[in-house]
Amino acid sequence: MNAAWRSFADELQRWRDGGRTAEFWWRDDDAARPAPTLERLCALSARMAVPLALAVVPVGADRALLRGLGGAVTLIQHGADHRNRAGAREKKTEFPASESPQAAAIRLSTARVALAEWAGARFVPVLAPPWNRLPDALVPALAAAGFRGLSRYGARASAAAAPGVVQVNTHVDVIAWRAGRGFIGEEAALGAAVRHLAAKREGRADAAEPTGWLSHHAVHDEAAWNFLERLFETARAAPGLRWRGAHELFHVP
Ligand SMILES: [Zn+2]
Repeated sequence: MNAAWRSFADELQRWRDGGRTAEFWWRDDDAARPAPTLERLCALSARMAVPLALAVVPVGADRALLRGLGGAVTLIQHGADHRNRAGAREKKTEFPASESPQAAAIRLSTARVALAEWAGARFVPVLAPPWNRLPDALVPALAAAGFRGLSRYGARASAAAAPGVVQVNTHVDVIAWRAGRGFIGEEAALGAAVRHLAAKREGRADAAEPTGWLSHHAVHDEAAWNFLERLFETARAAPGLRWRGAHELFHVP
């Protein structure tokens, strides 16, 4: 076992020593159509019995992606059309500051209704905004747009993003977006997990927020696939650790 896995195992041991259950969840972004990588993702979820929250881009999605998802896969909503509307000085975003919250909320709500219709009981009305970016001004409009949850990146400031909107973020992005779009490496991925777990354990972050693993099946290299597999195997063998699914996390029956 190398130093990164050792420090991850040590952190999990600290949770056990404190009589606490470390909770994880798994979100994967950018599903839009059937693909061998999506099949591989869902097969991994099924084989490892790890619930998967699959963030689907609703506008233009091919409904055939529903086929063969497996029992542990829930769909959440990844924006409306995932189009980059960023202004000149903004980072990539579907929801630029120049767009009125009302217009953005209508686009999101229309896409939600359509996705809910074809995805049926697999769908949980949770918004995972593209690039994890959503203007603060849009957050209060989410409940009226039909969303029960919001998922971005980084330790949450509060359990509710707005009244009626549960917030559960991701904390470990396994892709190196600015360095070749391959696996970010064990040290970086496990380091991020250990930092979030330690912050929760030491009261510097909300201990009730499960640590979220974020993947992007379309760009995984073999190292990313191997990492996820090893993570799930490690987690399965570790007592006092629990994976949670989106229905339960976002309090949707
Ligand atoms: Zn995306």
